Amino acid sequence: MAKELDIAGMLEGYDKDKITIATVCSHSSLQIFDGARKEGFRTLGISVGERMKIYDAFPKAKPDEFLKVDGYSEILERTEELREKNVIVIPHGSFVEYLGADEFRKLALPTFGNRRVLKWESDRNKEREWLTSAGISMPEIVPNPEDINRPVLVKYHGAKGGRGFFIAKDYSDFKLGIDHTKEYHIQEYVMGTRYYLHYFFSPIKTEGYRTKNGVLELLSIDRRDESNIDEMYKLGSQEELKKMRVFPSFVVTGNIPVVIRESLLPKVFDMGERAVNRAYELFGGLYGSFCLETIVTDQLEFKVFEISSRIVAGTNPFISGSPYSDLMQEDLSTGRRIAQEIRLAVETEQLGRIIS
Ligand code: AMP
Repeated sequence: MAKELDIAGMLEGYDKDKITIATVCSHSSLQIFDGARKEGFRTLGISVGERMKIYDAFPKAKPDEFLKVDGYSEILERTEELREKNVIVIPHGSFVEYLGADEFRKLALPTFGNRRVLKWESDRNKEREWLTSAGISMPEIVPNPEDINRPVLVKYHGAKGGRGFFIAKDYSDFKLGIDHTKEYHIQEYVMGTRYYLHYFFSPIKTEGYRTKNGVLELLSIDRRDESNIDEMYKLGSQEELKKMRVFPSFVVTGNIPVVIRESLLPKVFDMGERAVNRAYELFGGLYGSFCLETIVTDQLEFKVFEISSRIVAGTNPFISGSPYSDLMQEDLSTGRRIAQEIRLAVETEQLGRIIS
């Protein structure tokens, strides 16, 4: 756990004028490096294999230096040399997913955000406990497959990016699609429109949308492009396709910027506030960037089907800002906002409040 690692001790030994912002070269790294540079930080890209060349194509987002490793687990062995460079790590989805949540918890480097969230986020039951006890509405669970009498989504535990999920409308559909070798759960398929809400929570900022423990911001919203479900309609009915053993899949291939009806914004903030407040009660807080993955029904109600407690790739369309962040500051990406938070924490000697 973070405390056993003595992150506070590591930070004490850091030269605060020479902090380097580091992340793994993938996912949202272009935005993280670009944002860090705009806030005057040095940057370091951890390249798992040969990932470096692509940064030549995007010079403003090319890190100042690379650390090349052969596999994710090697990062755990190279922490000393990273600490010597006063590295603060920005976790993103690929970093945590491919290193593994358990290994990530052991990473002996100061990390942006609260790593205690991992225990609550990586277990679907605990995630549900957190959000529903916060008063956030989630899709219903169908405990017994024989009771399926409306569209449901069968989700495999730990599945990356929706891989292998399938839709069933009754028990025979379920039997046709299920892989019994994997753990799964069955969730009501919510009919509506998807919005992936990108928040930022600061425990140290004082101006803005104030909540119990700090200030909540909405930086942007995206919708994911998912293959092949998003284009499948072009081939006719899913029932017909099923006979040819073509099933919808939800693998993320890209992201589209969206805005939400303005009248829904109070609900957006209410949900974000609830998630953060409950996080402080349960495990000491949710600070930095996080995303609620939601579906809005035609009754204009939100159902949250997942939370991601770090920068999500859906923020990538907004390197130069979004219709929301533009109203706070121009040219403000999530990556840049993270760097700003670290800058503010350094200046006010509060790094311990945003790093774990
Ligand atoms: P997840 O891995 O939970 O983020 O889900 C992958 C994708 O499945 C989402 O991006 C949605 O398109 C879809 N999805 C997940 N849960 C539901 C649900 N309860 N109802 C409808 N679609 C869902």
